[in-house]
Amino acid sequence: MPEYKTDREIEVMREAGRIVGEVLDLMGQNIAPGVTTAELDRIAEEFIRSCGAEPAFKGYRVGGNTFPASICASIEDVVVHGIPSERKLVEGQIISIDVGTIKGGYCGDGARTFAVGDVDESRQKLMKVTIQALQAGIDKAVAGNRLGDLSSSVQQVVEQNGFSVVRDMVGHGIGRKMHEDPQVHNFGTAGTGPVLKKGLVIAIEPMVNAGGYKINFKPDGWTTVTADGLPSAHFEHTVAITDNGPDILTLV
Ligand code: MG
Repeated sequence: MPEYKTDREIEVMREAGRIVGEVLDLMGQNIAPGVTTAELDRIAEEFIRSCGAEPAFKGYRVGGNTFPASICASIEDVVVHGIPSERKLVEGQIISIDVGTIKGGYCGDGARTFAVGDVDESRQKLMKVTIQALQAGIDKAVAGNRLGDLSSSVQQVVEQNGFSVVRDMVGHGIGRKMHEDPQVHNFGTAGTGPVLKKGLVIAIEPMVNAGGYKINFKPDGWTTVTADGLPSAHFEHTVAITDNGPDILTLV
């Protein structure tokens, strides 16, 4: 069952979300050829802790697996949940950074895909379309709409542009826990699903593949890659449904 947040709780979540936005800005300032994703992780963790917050992903457990870092760093064909490492970024790649924070008992969650130096037109288009798909979803995060309205508009933007949305990974409700009900699919049918109500807070996060939608999971238990090896982009905001329309909590 989804939990509906009070206005006061949403203000606490805005603080966790603002830190997420600041970390992503900081990542953008530091991403360059030759930088390792482990360095980016150290920068992110230090900043999060300096804000009196906790990195939500570090120590996050799924089954018997524990995520070891404060950010997910997903390069090129890695869709999400890439583990930071000593691998150096290379000019022309794209890298998705996903970050979660906990402040005052509430979570924030956001992601952006960045270009490493100059990237080709196809990668630029992939990133642009993923932003447009996220915005289309946010635009439907309105009380009285159904969740399927949001999911189907994300899917439409992606597929009209010749790309595909990942099926096996979804967005989610968020609050005291990083992952709450409902699941927020990036594909679906308008007019179906639960009605969105004031106080629901969701992480909307299209994962968009340049090629087919199929993904594979790596043996480390976290890293997911596109099955066809083509690049993937990921943008995410934490969004509250209010009486005044969608309220993006992960803005700086
Ligand atoms: Mg998320």
